[in-house]
Amino acid sequence: MIIRNVRILGGEPVDIRVADGEIAEIGPGLEGPETVDGGGAIALPGLVDLHTHLREPGREDAETVQTGTQSAARGGYTAVHAMANTSPVADTAGVVEQVWRLGREFAHCDVHPVGAVTVGLEGKQLAELGAMADSAARVRVFSDDGKCVDDAVLMRRALEYVKAFDGVIAQHAQEPRLTSGAQMNEGVISGRLGLTGWPAVAEEAIIARDCLLAAHVGSRLHICHVSTAGSVEIIRWAKSKGWNVTCEVTPHHLLLTDDLVEESPVGAYNPIYKVNPPLRTRADVEALRAALADGTIDIVATDHAPHPVEDKETEWSAAAMGMVGLETALSVVQEAMVETGLLDWAGVAQRMSAVPARIGRLGGQGQPLEVGAPANITLYDPSVRTEVDPSAFASKSRNTPYEGMTLPGRVVATFLRGRATVLEGKLV
Ligand SMILES: [Zn+2]
Repeated sequence: MIIRNVRILGGEPVDIRVADGEIAEIGPGLEGPETVDGGGAIALPGLVDLHTHLREPGREDAETVQTGTQSAARGGYTAVHAMANTSPVADTAGVVEQVWRLGREFAHCDVHPVGAVTVGLEGKQLAELGAMADSAARVRVFSDDGKCVDDAVLMRRALEYVKAFDGVIAQHAQEPRLTSGAQMNEGVISGRLGLTGWPAVAEEAIIARDCLLAAHVGSRLHICHVSTAGSVEIIRWAKSKGWNVTCEVTPHHLLLTDDLVEESPVGAYNPIYKVNPPLRTRADVEALRAALADGTIDIVATDHAPHPVEDKETEWSAAAMGMVGLETALSVVQEAMVETGLLDWAGVAQRMSAVPARIGRLGGQGQPLEVGAPANITLYDPSVRTEVDPSAFASKSRNTPYEGMTLPGRVVATFLRGRATVLEGKLV
């Protein structure tokens, strides 16, 4: 198959010949029996998400492995890491293998289960990290995401344990007592609205502690969804010491701010903006963008968090936290990072494909589009601007904060090892 007229990382137009799931040839004027017209789209290595909630097993009303990975494919992803806060929790070899098998059978992209750090995400006892690493799912990323591993001794043990198989602990940094009952970013707006504040220090204190712990035991630490300027400063300092710390930012924290809770196109107190960690201030957004540009923040991860309508369309304090994000991630990153001149397409490819694959230790993903590489390819047209229409999502859930917003760009096609999962913007 020939993929015609694409611009690798935004470069000169070329054709790509794909054979046996790999890139066999790159050049102008390639001929073959079967062709796909790229129409001058940008070709990126297939995107890799380090932080996706697929909700299966247990909350198939919100998402399944099948619908979540359809959503991923439409967003240009060829691999996702499925978070462990399912029901039952993915804290044993049995459950991670179940998710891995569902991925093999039904998925539209590769599915890599994340293992829980503690049994039942309860923060009391380490889960079977070694058994999950040795299982067919070959788990390398462990996280209690949704909850913080707040016990310093357990966190230290987890960091020590995963060294044996080159694993990484992905921490959801949220000091629980400082955020008891918290509803939104602690600041001027939370004060005015009378909602319990979620202070930046609750995130920053855990990040500082865990950077020190990771350095102390010489292990790998990854920080999920960094949301404050202070967190960025701490991570910059930890990296300057040469410590093995990586971190992610979500698309929504690169674009949206806490004042949307007070005033937005969908009114005040709209739980569509309720998310963990909360939307922060304009100054935080600016710091996150600068940190993603300069490499202090390593990657963009979606934290795709589908919820059924009844869990979101309720009063603010009762609503579930989280937003879907797979199908809008690349557009939001274009808006926040590319249109602002902070990143070029090579920079986007690093932060949404190569580096997340490296952190997750995925061999066959995130490789540059070169001859011999697996044909994991995303074709993206950055020149269009369209209104976000959640009814068109492949996800089972519709809880997007971008409904009605006009965002740039469109995923034209996604190829997983040479097989199209999306063509002309539609699932294959
Ligand atoms: Zn989280």
